[in-house]
Amino acid sequence: MIASAFMDVSREISRALSFNRREFLRSATGACVASALTRSPLRAAQLPRQKKAVVVTFGGGARDNETFMTEGQENIPHLLSELLPQGTFFTQVVNRGILGHYVANASLATGVYETINNFLAAPPQNPTVFEYYRKDLNRPRTDVWIVAPSVGFERIGESLHPGYGPGLGGNVILPKRLLAAALPTGARGNYDSLLRDNYESPLYSSESATVETDLARIAGVLKLSVGDFLQNARNAQSPDELSVFVLHQLMKQFAPSLLWITLHDIDIAHAGAFSLYIDGIRRTDRLCSKIWNLIQTDPEYAGKTIMYVLPDFGRDSDMEASGNGFQHHRTGDVRSRTTWMLAIGAGVRQNVLVEHPIESTDLVPTLGSYLGFSPRFAQGKPIEFL
Ligand SMILES: [Zn+2]
Repeated sequence: MIASAFMDVSREISRALSFNRREFLRSATGACVASALTRSPLRAAQLPRQKKAVVVTFGGGARDNETFMTEGQENIPHLLSELLPQGTFFTQVVNRGILGHYVANASLATGVYETINNFLAAPPQNPTVFEYYRKDLNRPRTDVWIVAPSVGFERIGESLHPGYGPGLGGNVILPKRLLAAALPTGARGNYDSLLRDNYESPLYSSESATVETDLARIAGVLKLSVGDFLQNARNAQSPDELSVFVLHQLMKQFAPSLLWITLHDIDIAHAGAFSLYIDGIRRTDRLCSKIWNLIQTDPEYAGKTIMYVLPDFGRDSDMEASGNGFQHHRTGDVRSRTTWMLAIGAGVRQNVLVEHPIESTDLVPTLGSYLGFSPRFAQGKPIEFL
């Protein structure tokens, strides 16, 4: 009885949050509300044959107070004025899993709430979207890339699941690790903010011999000189800017059909400085626009690609007595679990809001419907919105 009453309250809070987002976005962008999720045969027929997908996690966790509420709108001008009017926005995406960044990203990538240790670089327990796509469509490894923010993500590209796993995953690139390998030991102190592996433990990127081999290999495959990479790092304001630079190189070199980038700057909020957290949100907003523009100006992508932008999860609300407000995501409260998603690109309806609740685990089945693979072990369901 108590558990069911708790679920009712949780659902009510999620719904209220979604309603607030809807009302805010209707007034801020003039978007219309879709009454139901439907698949339009006409739109499906208009979809391109050579389909590509880019997934961007609006990463590190931001709250509505600083984004989709009146007082937050100044932090997301690109999302509000540029991207939302061209896309379909889902106002209620619920994450019922563990609120750690690696495990939440792995859950997004498998369509199953993973239970792996967030702080160990362990492979996901279930097949990833990268494996489903490559196996079912017989795609080469160079067609699937993941740009990830920290060493803990290095195994995200490939599960150990029987029937999938080794040899079927995507390529994972860790730009910070490349930077650590590219810099002479004495120069690393000048790049502290770019090298910081994550905001929840003090570890720096590994300096093993493998890393240097990785650098040479990746620089080689990207046709990028170490000097050019370092030059870009010197100009980068943050790790996420470096990640987007690497993403752009991948697009130019391989035009991968499935690209996944986890942005993470916002998570600097753990340090407790509100201004840095806000800077992270503004930069993430700008980088989402930059990625969309890279897609739109590249003939390999324009008109063939859907970009999905969604957070891994939010952050603690000010109303939770056990939390510390924006700084962490420790309470697991409903507000930090009720996120959103934007879909924009080929065949996606423009300026539409969808209130129908969906889950984080629905992303992989949705990608499956679009790209044409079967997500056999995913828990979620495809969102029929095209
Ligand atoms: Zn965090």
